[in-house]
Amino acid sequence: MTAASRAPAPQAPGPYDTPERRALRTLVAEFTAREVAPHLSAWEQVGELPRDLHRKAAAAGILGIGFPEGVGGSGGDLIDVVVMTEALLEAGGSGGVVAGLFSHGIALPHVVDEADRRRERGDRAGADDLVERIIAPVLRGDAIASLAVTEPDGGSDVAHLRTRAARVENGWQVSGAKVYITSGVRADVVVAAVRTGTPEEAAAGISLVLLDPRAQGYAAPRALEKMGWWCSDTAELAFDGVHVPEGDVLGEGMGFASLARHFVSERISIAVTAYSTAQRALDLTVDWARKRETFGRPLVSRQVVRHALVEMARQVDVARVYTRDVARRYAEGEDVVLPAVQAKKTAVAACEYVVDRAVQFHGGMGYMRESEVERHYRDARVLGIGGGATEVMDDLAARLLGY
Ligand SMILES: Cc1cc2nc3c(=O)[nH]c(=O)nc-3n(C[C@H](O)[C@H](O)[C@H](O)COP(=O)(O)OP(=O)(O)OC[C@H]3O[C@@H](n4cnc5c(N)ncnc54)[C@H](O)[C@@H]3O)c2cc1C
Repeated sequence: MTAASRAPAPQAPGPYDTPERRALRTLVAEFTAREVAPHLSAWEQVGELPRDLHRKAAAAGILGIGFPEGVGGSGGDLIDVVVMTEALLEAGGSGGVVAGLFSHGIALPHVVDEADRRRERGDRAGADDLVERIIAPVLRGDAIASLAVTEPDGGSDVAHLRTRAARVENGWQVSGAKVYITSGVRADVVVAAVRTGTPEEAAAGISLVLLDPRAQGYAAPRALEKMGWWCSDTAELAFDGVHVPEGDVLGEGMGFASLARHFVSERISIAVTAYSTAQRALDLTVDWARKRETFGRPLVSRQVVRHALVEMARQVDVARVYTRDVARRYAEGEDVVLPAVQAKKTAVAACEYVVDRAVQFHGGMGYMRESEVERHYRDARVLGIGGGATEVMDDLAARLLGY
């Protein structure tokens, strides 16, 4: 169905179509059809993904894609993450599954970077400790990791976050709160952005630290109810003097720079989720329009409907070709801060347009909980908010363009 309904639009050729990546696409599509799609409605109802899914995804070699084999990953780069995300969504996965199953995708890179830094300065024991205690268990699917940046007072202005780390003997004590944290209910380790410096230091006073949810002073997470992404648990977290040993600080004062660096790949990944969700919604709509008859003829026989499908396909293809190209440039080491922001905006706009049209052409069924496009419509809404709200991204783009 997917291939049949896709327009033969130009694709960024080459790296997305190697034999290895074609095999990866098949592997992920089969995994999704077998282990995800049949259970998704049940997970949506309970509001979280089973831990077993993480283990199964790890065993299939999917969970660790994009992480070096030396730390327990499956290897590969952002292009492999793109291929994996496309395949998962087009085979009937969801934005919620991508968010919840791969929350370590935004949390662990900071830990891997710190392990690399420790190795480079000869602290092999410190590097191995991070790999063995944090990185490898998460990539095996035995532990779940979250990234906690956003606070109740604000998420866009990261440089002014307030969660405070006070120096004590043998480390730090963290007090404050975080909100809207993906996988925060189930998390076994939380990479949290905290202020180790003064408020006046702004971005330079921020560090990333590892928080253990079992530590004293770490309150039971509050599960939040959401418009979409139901199968991805989202939490409010509160800390009151949580002890962080010195070895669990991922570079004092380096937190903001680390977040800014990895925001780029996060934004590209959100763009991929956006156009892949749109592709799936388009496929479902083409299928529906062929089968559904009104006034004695299939919907697809109406020129108005066909032209709308063409417009949906056009927007998906533009977003896909542009985003894939940005991901390729990222993988080749180019600075793509600006194009990543533009890709996110382009793909999110395409997704919002397509899921809206998908619901419309499904008629009453599109409004029903039992229809898949209804879920994509709700799931899509967060993509222009998370990973940097569109307006904030436009501000960043204006600065980068010198406007
Ligand atoms: C389902 C979900 C999952 C999430 N997962 C995580 C997670 O795992 N970890 C994490 O740290 N955070 C997470 N977030 C938080 C997300 O990153 C923030 O919601 C986002 O960064 C916006 O922050 P905010 O909600 O505090 O909005 P605010 O910063 O209060 O901004 C509100 C709105 O104001 C507008 N705005 C803000 N600043 C400007 C400006 N300068 N100019 C013009 N308009 C502006 C934007 O439209 C913005 O949406 C998640 C959020 C959701 C909904």
